[in-house]
Amino acid sequence: MGITNPWEPVQTYSNTQTPRQPLPMHEKDGSFGVLTTQVNKVLDWSRSSSLWPALFGLACCAIEMMSASGSRFDIARFGAEVYRASPRQADLMIVAGRCSVKMAPVLRQIYDQMPEPKWVISMGACASCGGVFNNYAIVQGVDKIIPVDVFVPGCPPTPDMLLFAFNELQRKIREGIPNPPDPLKDSGLKLTGPSGSHVEM
Ligand code: SF4
Repeated sequence: MGITNPWEPVQTYSNTQTPRQPLPMHEKDGSFGVLTTQVNKVLDWSRSSSLWPALFGLACCAIEMMSASGSRFDIARFGAEVYRASPRQADLMIVAGRCSVKMAPVLRQIYDQMPEPKWVISMGACASCGGVFNNYAIVQGVDKIIPVDVFVPGCPPTPDMLLFAFNELQRKIREGIPNPPDPLKDSGLKLTGPSGSHVEM
């Protein structure tokens, strides 16, 4: 009497009783697949798939941004989990939270230190338009200081909203859509530190 395999019914039939079909064997026929594209499309695709954000959490929105890096939302799926402490190693700035007028020159300086090409996501109502803080101490939208590519609405914006904005930014990069104009480039305004001259926003 031969040895019977007790697992044979399981191996032969799935739980839905669908007979398993043997996988088709890949046959090498000697032909090579050829993919044609353009260099700039490959560059855009690789840039969009390896965005490294600069650490720039300003307020409660930063907690939501940190959640996007956790296992539940897992921004690493898009190659963007490497938050850099140095702007020189980052090509994405996620402004997460309200930006005070005192902080504005620091925000601009960090943006200027990031190498080209670079992109900005304004995360949350406060960063995008001042939110509930309609007063002289808060910048009423960081797009008055730096060019913003994607705005995330809401208070608080959830991590999945940030991921959606991130996917939109990836789409913009892959489609070659340029950055918006720099708000300070033609205005002649210069942002200086707290002890320097006052800047009207
Ligand atoms: S938008 Fe809401 S969660 Fe974000 S910084 Fe402002 S108050 Fe905080």
